Amino acid sequence: MTTKTQIPAPGATSANTGTPVIQVQELRHQYDTRVALNGVTFDVRAGEIFGLLGPNGSGKTTMFRILSTLMLPSGGRALICGLDVATNPNGVRREIGVVFQAPSIDVKLTAEENLRHIGHLYGLRGSALSNRVHEMLSRVALADRAKDYAETFSGGMQRRLEIAKGLLHRPSVLLLDEPTTGLDPGARRDLWQYLQELRDQGITIIVTTHLMEEAERCDRLAILSQGRLVAIGTPTELKHEIGGDVILLEAKNPEPLARQIHDRYGIESTVLDGKVRLEREGGHRFVTEVVEAFPGEIDAISVSKPTLEDVFIHRTGHRFWTEEEKQKNHEDTKARSKAGKKTPKS
Ligand code: ADP
Repeated sequence: MTTKTQIPAPGATSANTGTPVIQVQELRHQYDTRVALNGVTFDVRAGEIFGLLGPNGSGKTTMFRILSTLMLPSGGRALICGLDVATNPNGVRREIGVVFQAPSIDVKLTAEENLRHIGHLYGLRGSALSNRVHEMLSRVALADRAKDYAETFSGGMQRRLEIAKGLLHRPSVLLLDEPTTGLDPGARRDLWQYLQELRDQGITIIVTTHLMEEAERCDRLAILSQGRLVAIGTPTELKHEIGGDVILLEAKNPEPLARQIHDRYGIESTVLDGKVRLEREGGHRFVTEVVEAFPGEIDAISVSKPTLEDVFIHRTGHRFWTEEEKQKNHEDTKARSKAGKKTPKS
């Protein structure tokens, strides 16, 4: 690669103010001999939506389990509101609301009953409980459906009820594990709208995702690959590190073409899925030049603005998705999109 920007020190961008709400320091985790987190360090600031983006197996769930006090790390430490998740899990639990991927609401109960049940576990009773339940249902725009059974809700509404449940004890931090899994694109957009509203009300949100379009909506992101932090910053900052456009050249003999481009222009490129990939300012001008320089060798060309997937490739040298995963993800989204049209709008 032509440019390699240093990973900024944790919390070191311009908007940094105050003490971080979450501090992850050299966090490590190992399952037997398999290393899932390999010394990860980052900070999350008050009132931001912070995304943990990474492909399957990058360590997101492991990080989520440690931050939500379900599992002890093998090394390093994580503090939430200054409390250590390993030594003070009860203190941490008071500060965090957690929304797991697996549904935890009882669909045979109404929205209100689901929350009242949790409220009892927190020791709330009487009018204090009723007020709290109403407040939380209003926060996720379900107040008018309080008396309806959760099984009559769309997927997006059920997920919002999960969020209301996580917020019932008024935590300052909300942790969500891949919150839009199984939702159609419309419900995904709606859910993000609610997350942004909660952020605007001062709740710090940390969310794991493997979806680029979700990562784009985060205020800041940590990108994980194979248990390591490979990049941190706002989506715009991260994409800016790629100087210019991303060019893909399809060729019968991509490896020799990459070498020839290097010899002629001094430009580093990578060969991914049989295509030569390079980063270059003024991409359109450059491709005209390169087609003329290597007549008959290039079958197809694409020039595009960098995406977060390009950031991942730039930092790691490999693709975010395998072709199989990409295809599957595309098919799942299409299926959900179709199914979404038949279900009530969330
Ligand atoms: P992600 O959520 O990004 O898919 P995970 O945290 O689930 O990543 O996994 C990180 C690595 O740890 C992977 O190599 C995975 O196979 C391994 N791993 C996760 N959970 C376990 C487990 N319970 N036992 C053994 N290995 C695990």
